[in-house]
Amino acid sequence: MYKVGITGGIGAGKSTLCDILRDMGVAVYDSDSRAKQLMSDDEALRDALVEAFGSGVYTSEGLDRGYLARCVFGDAEALQRLNGIVHPAVIRDFETWAEAQEGDYVVLESAILFESGLDSRVDAVVAVMAPEELRVERAMQRDGASREDILRRIRNQMSDDQRADNAKYAVVNINREELVEDVEQLHRRLSYDAISRRR
Ligand code: ATP
Repeated sequence: MYKVGITGGIGAGKSTLCDILRDMGVAVYDSDSRAKQLMSDDEALRDALVEAFGSGVYTSEGLDRGYLARCVFGDAEALQRLNGIVHPAVIRDFETWAEAQEGDYVVLESAILFESGLDSRVDAVVAVMAPEELRVERAMQRDGASREDILRRIRNQMSDDQRADNAKYAVVNINREELVEDVEQLHRRLSYDAISRRR
């Protein structure tokens, strides 16, 4: 199966673009929500998290995200350990999922595609971009967060330019109607790439 990674910074429009692809019948793997689900359901992953961070990772209610966040807050080494446990589990899950899908290609949506090493598991990367001010406004409106908070999160991520430099395609998401047209064109290109690869 031909695999396409879709990435972009906060408020760029990854999910919006992926929703348009889903409407076109493309199978999309949302790595954020799958990672959360795996951390709750996957026994081997649960055991590894408890071994690394202690039994407080889970309560009777399930995964204690606050506890885990406190374990890694300001501790780069702990964060690396957490990622080293979760990312390989997501990669395995994505690969199993991808092989069970139909269609010319599948999509993996991830805000941290490059940072997590998932980029090496896909055949092509699409970077979704938007002007910073628009991203800030969208994220403030969606999350009810302050401008400073969003800007701080943007500064902690890779830049749009870095992502675009490493991507095969880049989509600039400003206006919704143009986005739909661009995604239709992207879909044709990706389908062509996938079919060419099979030949
Ligand atoms: P994050 O990484 O922050 O989850 P994302 O890249 O997945 O962000 P989306 O969730 O798709 O971004 O978009 C962020 C917000 O901006 C959403 O509320 C979405 O509805 C809105 N939005 C995205 N693109 C457009 C657009 N072209 N026109 C209007 N609103 C948009």
